[in-house]
Amino acid sequence: MTDRRGFLTAAVGTAGAALLPSISKAQEPFTLEKLPYAFDALEPHIDAKTMEIHWGRHHKAYVDNLNKALAGKEDLASKSIERLMIDVNSVPAAIRGSVINNGGGHYNHSVFWSLMKKDGGGEPTGATAKAIDQAFGSYAKFQEKLSTAAMTRFGSGWSWLVVNQMGMLDVVSFPNQDCPLSAGLKPVMGVDVWEHAYYLKYQNKRADYLKAWFNTLNWEVIGDRLAQATRKD
Ligand code: MN
Repeated sequence: MTDRRGFLTAAVGTAGAALLPSISKAQEPFTLEKLPYAFDALEPHIDAKTMEIHWGRHHKAYVDNLNKALAGKEDLASKSIERLMIDVNSVPAAIRGSVINNGGGHYNHSVFWSLMKKDGGGEPTGATAKAIDQAFGSYAKFQEKLSTAAMTRFGSGWSWLVVNQMGMLDVVSFPNQDCPLSAGLKPVMGVDVWEHAYYLKYQNKRADYLKAWFNTLNWEVIGDRLAQATRKD
């Protein structure tokens, strides 16, 4: 049931905290971080109401349900969200589905918010532009590839720019909240194409939402993520 070794490792890593367990920490190991901008910062591309509901209700529900699934499982609850999703196959079968959905939901959305900013968009520059050009031919071709992956994702899911196991840039799409980390990929940037991400403003026009989303991108953050994902270590 409980991975004893994992638990002991975690306890050593949080020395004092292990001796003085905090009740709130034990009940809420993962938290909903504040958005790095106001709800209306991404207007007119993504409307304030969508951001408020998407972050405050949808993302919050993933965090709350992840914490519920991990209640009493200190070895898992003490992991970082990244480590939890990378090692998701070692999660006990009884709660694995919940961790895939809610842990994935928490991680994916945390990344998603960070990729956008007020007055974002434009084209990448420097090393980011070079890497995208080398992998896809041009930024326009990359946009087309990411958009096609997003458009052809039937139902709910995400499209991602990832660095794969061979260290190459690639575009992939996953259903639901399946996390690229769990597939051994390093996610650089991704777009949420669940209807909750766009329905209030765009209704069924996913293509219009995607086109607008590119105008919100924070290339400083994406460049940093790309550099990290391609770093040889
Ligand atoms: Mn979402």
